Amino acid sequence: LLVLAACSKKVVQPATIFAAANPLERKVDSVLKLMTLEEKVGQLNQYNGFWEITGPTPKEGQAAKKYADLKKGLVGSMLNVKGVKDVRALQKIAVEEARLGIPLVFGFDVIHGYKTISPIPLAESASWDMEAIKKSAAIAAEEAAAVGLNWTFAPMVDVARDARWGRVMEGAGEDPFLGSKIAVARVQGFQGTNLAATNTILACAKHFAGYAFAEAGRDYSTVDVSETVLQNTIFPPFKAAVDAGVRTFMNSFNELNGIPATGSKYLQREILKGDWKFDGFVVSDWGSINEMMNHGYAKDSKQAAEIAINAGSDMDMESSAYVDHLVALVNEGKVKETVVDDAVKRILKVKFELGLFDDPYRYCDENREAATVGKPAFQEGVLDMAKKSIVLLKNDKEVLPLKKSGQKIVVIGALANDKTSPLGSWRIAADDNTAISFLEGMQNYKGNQLTYKKGADVAVGRTQFVWETKINTTDKSEFAEAIAAAKTADVVVMVLGEHGLQSGEGRSRADIGLPGVQQELLEEVYKVNPNIVLVLNNGRPLAIPWAADHIPAIVEAWQLGTQSGNAIAQVLYGDYNPSGKLPMTFPRNVGQLPLYYNHKNTGRPVMTEEDSVFWSHYIDEKTTPLYPFGFGLSYAKFEYADLQISAPSFAQAGSITATVKVTNTAKVAGKEVVQLYIRDLIGSVTRPVRELKGFEMIELKPNETKTVSFVIDSKTIQYFTANSKWEAEAGDFKLFVGGSSAATLEADFEYKNN
Ligand code: BGC
Repeated sequence: LLVLAACSKKVVQPATIFAAANPLERKVDSVLKLMTLEEKVGQLNQYNGFWEITGPTPKEGQAAKKYADLKKGLVGSMLNVKGVKDVRALQKIAVEEARLGIPLVFGFDVIHGYKTISPIPLAESASWDMEAIKKSAAIAAEEAAAVGLNWTFAPMVDVARDARWGRVMEGAGEDPFLGSKIAVARVQGFQGTNLAATNTILACAKHFAGYAFAEAGRDYSTVDVSETVLQNTIFPPFKAAVDAGVRTFMNSFNELNGIPATGSKYLQREILKGDWKFDGFVVSDWGSINEMMNHGYAKDSKQAAEIAINAGSDMDMESSAYVDHLVALVNEGKVKETVVDDAVKRILKVKFELGLFDDPYRYCDENREAATVGKPAFQEGVLDMAKKSIVLLKNDKEVLPLKKSGQKIVVIGALANDKTSPLGSWRIAADDNTAISFLEGMQNYKGNQLTYKKGADVAVGRTQFVWETKINTTDKSEFAEAIAAAKTADVVVMVLGEHGLQSGEGRSRADIGLPGVQQELLEEVYKVNPNIVLVLNNGRPLAIPWAADHIPAIVEAWQLGTQSGNAIAQVLYGDYNPSGKLPMTFPRNVGQLPLYYNHKNTGRPVMTEEDSVFWSHYIDEKTTPLYPFGFGLSYAKFEYADLQISAPSFAQAGSITATVKVTNTAKVAGKEVVQLYIRDLIGSVTRPVRELKGFEMIELKPNETKTVSFVIDSKTIQYFTANSKWEAEAGDFKLFVGGSSAATLEADFEYKNN
């Protein structure tokens, strides 16, 4: 049978030859045995599909080569193919024209939704609501699977401390503990419990590793970090993703301590496939195999291919380095065929898990596509997620919630009237102008008089892939009209911030204030009417110290996706009480970056400004953040009291419990994320001043008190010690409980290592 199958010119469906009852590994081996070296290498090759697929077959150029390779079985996966029609057309070539008929797996950047767009991941992370985040990923998976896709290049689990880096919008912020929980929620949301179901897709933990630690926050830049940072800060969400069963990993553009991540044996073979026993496959980042030439690590594409495959990069995204050179490299003895085999097996295994061998068209159902894309339940889901993502940063004088009638409200800012920017970056399949704008959301409330004035634009260009979003506008010609309107208003709502494409890949900023003339507009309007609600739209923390000092109410509304305007309006009018907490520190000044709450102490810790100049500080700026990690207000008011620990110490197998009483002293019900931080006072490696170790969201009615408890055991206090392993060290600790990383209730405990 084997021989027959291998010799047959026509379609061979390996999976149907070998009984489905066989264990997975045997099925994979049985397919592998049928394959020539060329066909094996083909499985490791991923091509981009941004071209007219269902049009006439191209005769020349790149597209023609890709078609030819597809027919020869030299393609294992495609990315950026959209819609059942195109997916089916390409799958048909792979399955019916290539000799072995091995189905393709279709990947796509479903980062925060496919067509129905949920908040950017940083915003979702502000919800601290794992069920909501999981549901949001599940919605994205169902919609993406309905258009023929099987694989998303998400979640990005890079812990990020530098808000200049444009891709902070795509991650879960600065904390490894919160980031790990969110990584798990997203992986579970995308993959569900059955990969072969037609409403789930493969997840991909990316970018392994260190990508967010780019020097000076400049995308793709050099990364040089210690093993302590790698192990304690960067690795945990990746490890959590592996433990949650993520089936794919993506490596990274950056070099890490001198070795490009794509060519790193340490990362891919030792840590990921070795220590963590990851048995899925690793895809390179876009062209990152060939980029090792620019890094000065490979002299040509052939050497880059040799380095990458030997280092454990299984699939080549868009470099063509594998398909061009791997056969020769094996024949020359530079790459062992067993190394290629291992990569192929990993990919085939995942294709089996997706059910593609049983039915390569199982994701290609036009009826399902039509019934699923944009369906009302998805709209409700992303609206719910959007509301949960909003963070109330300031509400002095109780400007918010807005009164529902009798008010003259003047809305100012180009972003208020923008139906594209709220979609944010990384929404490749969603069309422009498909978000509910802020103004549209506000218009649902009819009791007030609503006036809109643009005042100023943000950037001159506004379309995906148009680089004019780089250019801040300097045009102030519409200031006067906005200021005149503001004078007459009871409340002015200013919607300011970044255009949706001013964050994301390749969009680092050196100045993280309000772009363009928006700051000036804000100050001018304030002069005539200080009763301002500032609604921020942005993909990263912003440095807005003037606004924080002057503006009475500030609402962090990020880029909230398709339902953005409805979500913000419901929060402003008090129909939804905000409960979001910042997943990333807001600095006062870009010069403070990187700024993060879980930093180390120095030998010269904080003194008062008057004391001395010889301590770790700036002479021209405070050291503290504008808004700390974990911070966020509510229309309710929460008081923390009576922090107790069940015992002053515990030993190896034991634990202690910390309890705290939280009371809502306001007249409205609200939700609060109660947070637990610890500090390990003395370590074999110096320890952060605080580390998040637990959180719980509670809901309190007016005057209600709840007791929240956290269990602390040896796992809670483990870290990567001077012994180069994860362990708990005996010694003294502090714990802090409260509503942000600046929590002030504290207690002491001891861990005895026996
Ligand atoms: C990004 C990845 C992304 C890939 C495919 C790259 O430029 O770094 O995160 O998945 O493109 O679009």
